[in-house]
Amino acid sequence: MTLYVHKYGGTSVGNLERIKQVADRIVQARQRGDRLVVVVSAMSGETNRLLALARGVQDPPDSRELDVLLATGEQVTIALLSMALQQRGCPACSYTGGQVPIVTDRAHTKARILDIDTGRIEADLAQGKVVVVAGFQGVTGDGDITTLGRGGSDTTAVALAAALKADECLIYTDVDGVYTTDPRVEPRARRLDRITFEEMLEMASLGSKVLQIRSVEFAGKYNVPLRVLSSFVEGPGTLITYEEESVEKPLISGIAFNRDEAKLTILGVPDRPGIASKILGPIAEANIEVDMIVQNVGEDGSTDFTFTVHRNEYRRALDILRRVCDQLGAREAAGDDTIVKVSLVGVGMRSHAGIAAKMFDALAREGINIQMISTSEIKISVVINEKYLELAVRSLHEAFHLDQSPA
Ligand code: ADP
Ligand code: ASP
Ligand code: MG
Repeated sequence: MTLYVHKYGGTSVGNLERIKQVADRIVQARQRGDRLVVVVSAMSGETNRLLALARGVQDPPDSRELDVLLATGEQVTIALLSMALQQRGCPACSYTGGQVPIVTDRAHTKARILDIDTGRIEADLAQGKVVVVAGFQGVTGDGDITTLGRGGSDTTAVALAAALKADECLIYTDVDGVYTTDPRVEPRARRLDRITFEEMLEMASLGSKVLQIRSVEFAGKYNVPLRVLSSFVEGPGTLITYEEESVEKPLISGIAFNRDEAKLTILGVPDRPGIASKILGPIAEANIEVDMIVQNVGEDGSTDFTFTVHRNEYRRALDILRRVCDQLGAREAAGDDTIVKVSLVGVGMRSHAGIAAKMFDALAREGINIQMISTSEIKISVVINEKYLELAVRSLHEAFHLDQSPA
């Protein structure tokens, strides 16, 4: 008998009507003879609502307590879905992360899964039950509730699929697959039948929130067959595949963007060995992750140094940089939290020159100023002002003909 892990995101379980529709879909799958483990997110908006409640009391909230609070969102949906299944005559049982248990490290609000005990789930499956598991949450070795970072239900689903050696992990969401870019920004975006695991990893890490990056990493590591599809309409969705040969080979597969970054610059720093570590050392000590880094060519013995961080860390990073500026005798520390990063992704880039030039040309024609650039083997990213995001994505989509299926 085939074993599937289904995952339903927030919009798909956004109200009782939708939870009942999900239950109908699960009943149908079970009637086909599939064994099913179902992971659900909190109802749409619920995690944000809980976050706002916490911030209304303590800002920033204590991360251990925040996890206790955030995990309640998913606990509501597992119980409601289980009831809806039972109401339809389908035996079902719900589990929180701690009940499974899904054991994680102690990194509250961004915990990593260390181990999953599949004993109770397998016993339920053997009795013909549908097992409903809360996404996004786990438990530490000593019993504290943890959460896995925003979008973490994807990772719960993939990790369960790996641990149970499921035949496929199906991520049901509010779009019918992975598109060339976010269809909410570019309506002409095209659904991809397949995307390589490597490209999906880049897209996710560069800001495409359709899959949490850790879920893609997990799928790669444990070879979990993974598919993204709609919970509202039937269709094949998008298969994340490991076989590059079977994938259409366009130069560019997609455009990702990230609205969550901010840029910091220190101007007129003495240009001498060790300066980069003097600037970034204190940032790292404050546990702030740095993404892009650019150092200008020095002139007159001084240079400028720019880097990006998550927007949530902008204020903290700027305070640190101002201190560093004084210590180093630099001219000025400045910042901008109205930037976005836009990236082109494609394995075809490896073997083709000229992609960057074409990208910069398309942006120049729209009068969009590029503030930073970074490249790797299969991606090119630029930082631009946030007001140009939609224009940049659409003009790049058109310049690279992403709306057309490659011949
Ligand atoms: P869920 O609540 O089901 O986890 P998410 O909101 O996390 O759903 O992810 C689905 C959303 O991801 C879509 O509604 C879409 O706006 C966005 N998205 C961003 N990039 C892409 C892309 N390349 N393809 C499809 N969807 C994308
Ligand atoms: N409910 C969590 C969030 O909003 C986890 C998820 O939906 O995957 O981030
Ligand atoms: Mg999601």
